[in-house]
Amino acid sequence: MIDYCPCGNNKVYEECCRPFIDKKQLPETAEELMRSRYTAFTKGKVDYVLNSHQKKTRPLKERNKMQKWMNSVEWLGLSIVKTEKGQAEDEKGTVEFRAIFIEDGMTEAIHESSIFEKENGKWFYVSGTHLQNNKQYLKY
Ligand SMILES: [Zn+2]
Repeated sequence: MIDYCPCGNNKVYEECCRPFIDKKQLPETAEELMRSRYTAFTKGKVDYVLNSHQKKTRPLKERNKMQKWMNSVEWLGLSIVKTEKGQAEDEKGTVEFRAIFIEDGMTEAIHESSIFEKENGKWFYVSGTHLQNNKQYLKY
């Protein structure tokens, strides 16, 4: 069985998000960081999610709550809607994405536009804006 990466990139986990999550490699683009953060959510890797969050806004106090939530939902998939800048040569970037998951038997979608910034050559998640109609509660 091929262990495809949860981020939906059509690559195996070992060659996609894992090197980032295991700190063997740094994401070159904002989208790679976005994907690896999603994958970390699906795998309950709360420290990766926190450490890839910009220091100023890093929600350290939320750690336990985040861990609990990550483990309680079932992640169904990620789609990248669009990206603006965020390439290897950029210092800032925006990634719009949709992530689908099941929480308490309901299918939910997060539709977010996330801002990423580089600090000392490393990409960080800064903040996200939930887009209109982001919450779709569908009967599962
Ligand atoms: Zn991946």
